Amino acid sequence: MKSGLVALIGRSNVGKSTLLNNLIGSKVAITSPKAQTTRHSIQGVLNDARGQMVFVDTPGILQKRDRLTKRLLHIAKSTLDNVDVIVYVVDPTRSIGSEEKFVLNLARSSPTKKILCINKIDDPRPDFIESYRALAEEIGTVVEVSALRGTNLKLLINILFELLPEGEPLYPEGQLTNLTNEELIAELIREKLFLRLHDEVPYGLHVVVDDVKERENGDLYIHALILTNDERHKRYIIGSGGRGIKEIGQSARKDLESIMQKHVYLELEVEFDEHWVERLAA
Ligand code: GDP
Ligand code: MG
Repeated sequence: MKSGLVALIGRSNVGKSTLLNNLIGSKVAITSPKAQTTRHSIQGVLNDARGQMVFVDTPGILQKRDRLTKRLLHIAKSTLDNVDVIVYVVDPTRSIGSEEKFVLNLARSSPTKKILCINKIDDPRPDFIESYRALAEEIGTVVEVSALRGTNLKLLINILFELLPEGEPLYPEGQLTNLTNEELIAELIREKLFLRLHDEVPYGLHVVVDDVKERENGDLYIHALILTNDERHKRYIIGSGGRGIKEIGQSARKDLESIMQKHVYLELEVEFDEHWVERLAA
């Protein structure tokens, strides 16, 4: 049996999280048109007759020079050297700019085997596709996919299984991700919050899942607290007559029900707390 780790790298918004979800057939990573929504280093597990592969979504490859970014970059680099294959994801609708060159250098500097994955081929204007195809010679096998539509994902999986070594599975069958249930639920709620607060990057938002109970009939009861350090955000999240928070709850619940295959009751509470960062650290 084959077994191994596959890292997904690429600049923000190329579609890494979308690809991860659709490769494993379940939502584990949140996606958004906005940069930097993935907070955890999320792993997604794919099992089939040939064996198991574990995909690692690597957040935080940014050129910024602050301490957090440097730390994330350090983690990303060591991830790349310790996996079996790197899938380098690019977006042919955007030109190769300095950020792309930065990621490209990161990929180059790792001795790990690589696949070049040109995503978003469903887009009607992949204007820069030739400049990405030109990287194939240096990077390795090229696969052109649409993570969104599922085009050529089977082909990508076939190529990856060819490259993986033989070994024992890393995760027990049935486990989809390294995230705990609480972390996964919190991530999904965060995604809905990002969609609602679309024009602002809500770094000051945090979700705490403080109660998950399975009832006797199998239904899942969840309580989560949304913490924000911005009074305006709180009002906006709740919305007039509570409509905003209701929409967020409904759409998170729909995702959860399809992932967990259970009825879900989701109770959300929004709390303004200027000092939630300190409070959580305490
Ligand atoms: P990440 O930052 O690399 O994880 O990117 P995401 O997976 O969050 O995707 C960023 C944006 O690109 C989202 O709006 C996705 O819906 C979109 N996207 C991802 N894959 C595709 C694709 O194959 N085709 C198209 N047209 N859009 C995609
Ligand atoms: Mg992502």
